[in-house]
Amino acid sequence: MKKRTFLKISSALVTGAALSPFSGCSPDKQKEKMKNWAGNLTYGTTNIYEPTTTEEVQEIIRKCDRLRVLGTRHCFNRIADSDTNLIFTRNLNKIYALDKEARTITVGAGIRYGEFCNHLHEQGFAIHNLASLPHISVAGACATATHGSGVANGNLATPVTALEMVTGKGEVVTLTREQDQEAFNGAVVGLGTLGLVTKITLDIIPTFSVRQNVYLNLPMSQLEVHFDEIMSSGYSVSLFTDWQSDINQVWIKRVVMEGEPFTAEPEFFGARLADRNVHPIIEISAENCTEQMGVPGPWYDRLPHFKMGFTPSSGEELQAEFFVP
Ligand SMILES: Cc1cc2nc3c(=O)[nH]c(=O)nc-3n(C[C@H](O)[C@H](O)[C@H](O)COP(=O)(O)OP(=O)(O)OC[C@H]3O[C@@H](n4cnc5c(N)ncnc54)[C@H](O)[C@@H]3O)c2cc1C
Repeated sequence: MKKRTFLKISSALVTGAALSPFSGCSPDKQKEKMKNWAGNLTYGTTNIYEPTTTEEVQEIIRKCDRLRVLGTRHCFNRIADSDTNLIFTRNLNKIYALDKEARTITVGAGIRYGEFCNHLHEQGFAIHNLASLPHISVAGACATATHGSGVANGNLATPVTALEMVTGKGEVVTLTREQDQEAFNGAVVGLGTLGLVTKITLDIIPTFSVRQNVYLNLPMSQLEVHFDEIMSSGYSVSLFTDWQSDINQVWIKRVVMEGEPFTAEPEFFGARLADRNVHPIIEISAENCTEQMGVPGPWYDRLPHFKMGFTPSSGEELQAEFFVP
């Protein structure tokens, strides 16, 4: 992609032509300001647009001096906030194409993983990695490099192969991994600054089944010495701690191999195999968590910790993460 086009993408949001009366093009003047998922921040405006097509997005962007894009509101900070205008992407939620030969799926940017992953599985395909929850929008997840887990699994932005976005001038730009290389790489984790992503194409892989087991109370001393081994012990491994003493829980997700017998070891580096489904916060019922106890299930119902139809985690909470070399 040419440098000039890239600069255009980066340009500030500008005022444009008059607006035609699309339903999604008039702000939904909600009575109360919306909050994010955690409830720790209230968005700064009630001018909220909910376009359903790329053309509507163009109209809105041309009309507004300033705006920000809102996915499913799971960020804990003000990155998606605006005190002037917000475009809420939840109606940009179509599945456009499943290309079995090229092994890609193209979806509307506002679709949540939980809205299309079962369809993908039914068609014999999977996404290689998912976050702890399937409730987040694809574009919001990719724009912030949302991660799942697994030492060999890239984050959720890594399977993106193409983006359609509307720039600050209301122009539609398509970037592909194959053709636009560096500009494409720079745009995928765009933090909502380069334009509004309307469609995303993702690499897909053959579907697979996963079983997960949870181990309780892993001594911190074991983690210190065996960190690599522990984190590599499954396709996806997650640790939870309240920093009071041990690692409270180790969630190990393993790919089910056809015909291979499976019994979970009763002990794992000093941690004890859980004998029931548990929630990462042990006091809370495991009802909203994905099935554990080694029960095999499709990737989309095991890689996330939380089920689609339920509140992920406990709600109204702030989360922190620790990055280690
Ligand atoms: C309970 C819970 C569990 C979580 N688990 C994980 C986890 O396991 N791993 C992890 O890494 N993170 C996790 N997160 C964080 C979450 O994945 C990120 O905050 C992610 O960005 C949420 O996506 P969203 O659609 O809600 O984005 P929003 O919060 O709505 O927006 C995030 C950013 O994306 C931009 N954006 C959204 N849509 C578009 C678009 N169409 N075009 C351009 N820019 C856009 C916004 O402008 C903003 O900059 C969790 C959050 C919660 C509340």
